[in-house]
Amino acid sequence: MAHHRTTYAEIDLSAFRHNVQTIRSLVGDSVKVMAVIKADGYGHGAIPCARAALQAGADTLGVGILEEGIELRENGIQAPVLVLSGTFPEEIPDLLHHDLSTTLCTDAMAQAVSRQAAQSGVTARVHIKIDTGMGRLGLRPEEFVAFAKRIQGLKNLQIEGVATHFSSADEEDPEYTQLQLTRFRDVLGELKKEGITVPLVHCANSAALIRFPESWCDLVRPGIILYGALPSPGYRPFVDRLPQTREGRGFLPVMHWKTRILQLSTVPPRSALSYGQQFVTRRTSRIATLPIGYADGLHRRLSNRMQVLVRGTRVPQVGRICMDLTLIDVTDLPAVEVGDEVVLFGRQGEALLLPDELAQWGDTVAYEILCSVGKRVPRVFRY
Ligand SMILES: *Cc1c(COP(=O)(O)O)cnc(C)c1O
Repeated sequence: MAHHRTTYAEIDLSAFRHNVQTIRSLVGDSVKVMAVIKADGYGHGAIPCARAALQAGADTLGVGILEEGIELRENGIQAPVLVLSGTFPEEIPDLLHHDLSTTLCTDAMAQAVSRQAAQSGVTARVHIKIDTGMGRLGLRPEEFVAFAKRIQGLKNLQIEGVATHFSSADEEDPEYTQLQLTRFRDVLGELKKEGITVPLVHCANSAALIRFPESWCDLVRPGIILYGALPSPGYRPFVDRLPQTREGRGFLPVMHWKTRILQLSTVPPRSALSYGQQFVTRRTSRIATLPIGYADGLHRRLSNRMQVLVRGTRVPQVGRICMDLTLIDVTDLPAVEVGDEVVLFGRQGEALLLPDELAQWGDTVAYEILCSVGKRVPRVFRY
């Protein structure tokens, strides 16, 4: 009999497919969809998410690093894969061997990719990146056209895509995104004048694709929204304003993080709980101990700030979150028993607690909440 840890993450792949289909319907058939499954599918499991995304109509996959691309190939996934973060020269042989596309931003890398592709008798596909204001990867707009001209003629190298990335598409004020889009379009116009045509022009992450249809171009690169979470806690109104698609409106949460009550105790008023006595009871309290802690990815900075679901009701977490254990206050739920299910985020009956809320309580973003769910938390897939 297999033993299952009581702390686990349920991954609802039908919700994931629904979210991919919703994006697919929204952008229509003339726009390609790259499902971004970097960081082990934002913590959900890269391989099941990759398969589900392709089944649901995604055309290509985006990964963060080379190893994530190799993992896809080793699991038999043959769809086009782009390594979004770029690669080092020593990674080129693996890149070519596994037929992965890379983001490319320097002459040195372009020459190295071309040389090694020629030696291996293959064509390397690359996406070149314009830094329109993120300041992270890519060439500045004024350097870009000359760069594209220099590398265009390199042997065994095909420029498959031209891309940029937005820094602020989730923010209330659209101005900076519009500025980045204008800079992007200007460079694309110059490329065209030089006779350089590239099959895939792309820039839209989740926040941009939902809010700025003018950013769709040839391909969109949604990540967070496919997992049913928001780019930032204040982003909800933009999702709510989306037109209705065949699939209905909105996106469904994919991960449901669950545990069970390990111990229950009744403690008198003025009892100090957990390390550092950061919580002291004010009344006779019923305290439940959960077998989950920051070693599972439940951030310690959420201590005394977060809530969980028990019997479909929100109750507060109390005291410092420990490495393996966490306390919650169930005084207001007298029927609670040892073994009861506790939901850290996700659905419990009719009740829903979103990773976006944990992000808000922890001064972070849902991305970090999802990616943090640790490797000792088994993923249980529902197909
Ligand atoms: C992560 C990433 C995305 C997806 O971003 P979301 O905000 O999760 O939609 C798109 N493009 C690039 C280059 C990325 O690194």
